[in-house]
Amino acid sequence: MNDLQTLRMPPTAPANDTDEWVDALADGSMGMHRLPSHLSADEQVTLRRQAMEKRRGVSLDNLGNYSLDAERASKQNCENMIGVAQVPIGVIGPLRMHGEFVEDEELHIPLATTEGALIASANRGCRAITAAGGAVVRVENIGITRAPVFRTSGIVQTRSFLQWVEEHEDEIRLELEKGSRFLRLFDIRAKAIGTTVFLRFRFDAGDAMGMNMATIACDRVIEQLIEPATGVECISLSGNYCCDKKPAAINFLEGRGKSVHAEVVLDKQVLEKVLKTNARALAEVQYRKNLLGSAAAGSMGFNAHYANILAALFIAAGQDPAQVVEGSLGITCIEPHGPEGVIASIDMPDCPVAAIGGGTALGTQRQVLDMLGIELDSARPGAAAMRLAEIVGGAVLAGELSLLAALTSRDLARAHERLGRSTQR
Ligand code: ADP
Repeated sequence: MNDLQTLRMPPTAPANDTDEWVDALADGSMGMHRLPSHLSADEQVTLRRQAMEKRRGVSLDNLGNYSLDAERASKQNCENMIGVAQVPIGVIGPLRMHGEFVEDEELHIPLATTEGALIASANRGCRAITAAGGAVVRVENIGITRAPVFRTSGIVQTRSFLQWVEEHEDEIRLELEKGSRFLRLFDIRAKAIGTTVFLRFRFDAGDAMGMNMATIACDRVIEQLIEPATGVECISLSGNYCCDKKPAAINFLEGRGKSVHAEVVLDKQVLEKVLKTNARALAEVQYRKNLLGSAAAGSMGFNAHYANILAALFIAAGQDPAQVVEGSLGITCIEPHGPEGVIASIDMPDCPVAAIGGGTALGTQRQVLDMLGIELDSARPGAAAMRLAEIVGGAVLAGELSLLAALTSRDLARAHERLGRSTQR
């Protein structure tokens, strides 16, 4: 069946038509996105999945077990949908935190993971933090960035282009902010190399992560204002100077999204009883592994495993998992404090999070956000995302403490042997 025939299908197609569609999808004569639009999203999901089963000769029935709203998901989140990936969600906590948006609360935090021992370990970190009176958490709203790249004819045009941008910042701001009352330009940072110019726009995106909003706004300002006024051509809307979803020194140094800080003071008793370690051993692992080891390897993640906790929380809470690569940047510190205690902290300069947009409206993701008390407040736009970032900080600190402690007691391999392995050898 070709595409034209498909479009002419009657609204209520007889059963043998569905067989034809499955065959056409399976043999590739019909594109996956070409199913008739009168079919519901769930029907389309089923037909595509059946086509894949037929083509590969495998059963995909598990992919078809889902509760989410396929209509919404296939419109906003996932084209050519054939089903849903299920990732088990476990819970850690209670975790006591003292932030500006999480005010002296004890929270349970859902994490989606397939890595055995991760939840058990992070849970132990929560016990240590809560027993110590809680973690202090603070977040700075750095803003989301998008950096289109332009081509000039050389130094002279580059100079006049940069001058034009500087002199017209108010007009640029007006055009950028037209599309959404939640998008506000913080600043523009320019960088010129040869005949190339990057303009790195940095935005407050309220409770959204903001990448779509920023991209749409940049596209508009380039087309409506910058290109016509300067004659300088934009080569790509994203010039990688943003720098989205890549590890980057600019993000480490200047931050991106939210910059997250969390700390806790642990005394000798908590170190020994809960974490089965001591101040000297913990500080030494931190120094030799997180600092020296990362420096020797040229890593920008001077930490034990921010990415583990972040990925699990991002998947559970409908965040963009590709941005875990950014959240993996940062430095953990363990310093001596008082008699045989430590002050432990995490600093994540680049943590983009969202309380609206992306995957946050999907069934399980929304419920996870509800569980964390992430609710939009029209009187305080941006506060819900800041709260989520504070929770990230507390959870990441818990994960760091427990893993570093496990390394001091050589408990890591034993925990993985016990909790994290398939029984088949
Ligand atoms: P993103 O820009 O984060 O990639 P979306 O494209 O889904 O995500 O954009 C978020 C949408 O949510 C925008 O249309 C924005 O106007 C809307 N919105 C509603 N309330 C808020 C809020 N409190 N903060 C930010 N955006 C909001």
